[in-house]
Amino acid sequence: MFLSFKIKQFIPSFILATVTAVFVITIPGLSQTVQVTPTNLQLGDTLSVVIQQANRNLSTPTVSMDGKTYPSFSIGQNRFRALLPTTPLDKSGLRQLQVTTDTGTQNLSVNLQNRSFPTQSIWLPPDKKSLQGTDLEFDRVGAFKQIVTPKKFWNGPFLRPNQGPVSTVYGVRRYYNGDFAENYYHRGVDYADYNGAPVVAPAAGRISLVGLESQGFEIHGNTVGLDHGQGVTSIFIHLSRINVREGDMVKAGDQIGTVGSTGASTGPHLHWGLYVHGQAVDPVPWRYNGIE
Ligand SMILES: [Zn+2]
Repeated sequence: MFLSFKIKQFIPSFILATVTAVFVITIPGLSQTVQVTPTNLQLGDTLSVVIQQANRNLSTPTVSMDGKTYPSFSIGQNRFRALLPTTPLDKSGLRQLQVTTDTGTQNLSVNLQNRSFPTQSIWLPPDKKSLQGTDLEFDRVGAFKQIVTPKKFWNGPFLRPNQGPVSTVYGVRRYYNGDFAENYYHRGVDYADYNGAPVVAPAAGRISLVGLESQGFEIHGNTVGLDHGQGVTSIFIHLSRINVREGDMVKAGDQIGTVGSTGASTGPHLHWGLYVHGQAVDPVPWRYNGIE
C-alpha cells in the first residue's frame, strides 16, 4: 500500500492508466521509482521512462538500452523523464534498461513486442540510376537529427501537419527486385495533397534546418527541420515553398511551408518524419495519445 500511495502522490491519473510497470529500488537512505510506458510497447513506439527520486539532491539520471545512453530531463521536483526510440529494425523481446545516477545503476527489463508492418515491392530496371543525394544534405540532416535541446517546446498531442489523406504509413518495409531491404523502413508518414497545400507545425519548436533543392538537397528537396526539444525533432521534405527561417520559433498549427514534389519524389506529397534522438519513431502515439 505504501507503493500505491507513493505513486498516487506523484503521478497524475492519466499517466497511471498507462503505466506498464513500476520498479522500486531501495538503496539505504534513498528510494527511486521508475515507470516505463506505454503498457504494450511495440516496435516503433517511443519509450517513456520516468524516474522519481526521493527528496534528495542526486545527479540527473541517464537511461541506457542496447549500449546507447539517453539523457533525462527534469519534469518536476526530483522527477525526470527520458525518451527512448524504438524502430522496426529493432529486435523484439525482452530488453534491458539501466537507470544510472551518481549513486548507482538500477536494472530493469521491458518487453518490446513484435509488430508487422506493411510491405511494398519495388521493381527497378537493372540499369536504373537512382539519385544518390549529396554530402551537403546528408551532413545537414544528420546534424539536425542529433540536436538535443534541454527545453521542451511541445505540449500535448501533435497536430496533423497536413490535411491530405495518408498515402504511406510509418514503418512500411520494402522488397527491391524481390530482395528484402533489411535496413529500409518508411521513416515517417506521407500525406498526399495538392501542390501548394499548407504544411503546419504539428507542435511548437524552433526551426533548426532549412535546406533547399537548389543548394543540393537533391533527395530531400526543399526541407524544414523543427526542433521540439529534449531530442524530439520533425522533418518535412519535398516542400514547394518554405515560409520560415532557421531560428524562428513556431507554435503548433503555424504554417511552415507548402506541399510539393521537390527532391526524389514522384508526385506532390508531404513526408513528415518524427525523430527521437536521431531514430525515426511512429508518430501515431504522439498524434493521438500525446507524450508528455
Ligand atoms: Zn515518405
